[in-house]
Amino acid sequence: MDLKGSFPINSFKTLQTPFYYYDLEILRSSLDLLRKEADRNRIEVHYAVKANANPRILAAIQAYGFGADCVSGGEMQAALQAGFPSSRVVFAGVGKADWEIDLGLKADIFCFNVESAAELEVIDQRAAGMGKKARVALRINPNVQADTHHYITTGLSENKFGIPLQCLDEVLDLCMSLDHLELIGLHFHIGSQITEMDNFAGLCARVNEIQNHLDQRQLSVQHINLGGGLGIDYHHPDKVPVPDFSTYMHTIRKMLVMRPGQSLHIEPGRSVVAQCGSLISKVLYIKKGLQKEFVVLDAGMTELIRPALYQAYHKIENISSEEPEQKYDVVGPICESSDTFGKQVVLNKTRRGDLVAIRSTGAYAEIMASNYNLRPKAPARFSDDLLN
Ligand SMILES: *Cc1c(COP(=O)(O)O)cnc(C)c1O
Repeated sequence: MDLKGSFPINSFKTLQTPFYYYDLEILRSSLDLLRKEADRNRIEVHYAVKANANPRILAAIQAYGFGADCVSGGEMQAALQAGFPSSRVVFAGVGKADWEIDLGLKADIFCFNVESAAELEVIDQRAAGMGKKARVALRINPNVQADTHHYITTGLSENKFGIPLQCLDEVLDLCMSLDHLELIGLHFHIGSQITEMDNFAGLCARVNEIQNHLDQRQLSVQHINLGGGLGIDYHHPDKVPVPDFSTYMHTIRKMLVMRPGQSLHIEPGRSVVAQCGSLISKVLYIKKGLQKEFVVLDAGMTELIRPALYQAYHKIENISSEEPEQKYDVVGPICESSDTFGKQVVLNKTRRGDLVAIRSTGAYAEIMASNYNLRPKAPARFSDDLLN
């Protein structure tokens, strides 16, 4: 059996459940390595705020000098409030509303990652109205495969994201013809939770072809932004608490052929924050079914929707029990059959009142919380504030 994570259990026992627990030591270890590898590989990092926008998490990330990748006006506001300089804020997303574009223009953000010709025209108009010039990068759909869940691939032509390669020339022509835009970059994203370096290598090869094409048109851009989120090890949160940023960054640095003066940007979300978080929940009931036993938790899909939404796996541990192991279906209290965290999960013998940790929930958990069934929002707790 794997080691269980180390948790301040005595403090946990005094707290109302469920809550999101963030181990800030693990977050800082991730950020230390990310900073070191980014510097070594000369890569600029924009943290993808959508993974977790808790103010204390944002403040910790900002303190390392990283930028922010935002996909809404709300995220831009949160990033600016947390202290990210606007010169390091990027605004991406397939459906930017006018007020959001205006917000970005007013704050003078680093760059808009643009997904369509229609959007280019709107940004140009809004910038003209303010007497400004908007810096833009074109998000190109590279039509390359990523070996991840089909709900989280983004770089295939069937996905809604990015400008199809076939339309690139047309969109470049349009971009050049608009006076209130400055084309400064190319942006790519192929999906999330990618662990095969070959996928990144494939993307780099495609980017190289596109850059050759731009050369033929005597166009160049100041930066290349490679999305495509590095995956984490959901099965072994304690063995691999910090992802292998080194191999990832080295791979893209080696594979991409850059032009003189060009800078390379990435926008990781999940890999930065996932392993620092656990959802802590209390066992409400052990319910005997016909062929199995259910562990009914006080946390559900309202606190962590990934299993219901993407059939995602999260490691589950009973952190109160050392008794012999047994199999349970672990479910939440919400009135949906999909409100199930895991089937036939091996747990130490579990009783009402035990505390359960659902691991690797620093990313896409608290931020995706809902109040379905009119449940109140679960609070966040931080290791720095709790005694062991
Ligand atoms: C979601 C997203 C990210 C972050 O992806 P992770 O897999 O969490 O690292 C980065 N960039 C864009 C454009 C995204 O949509």
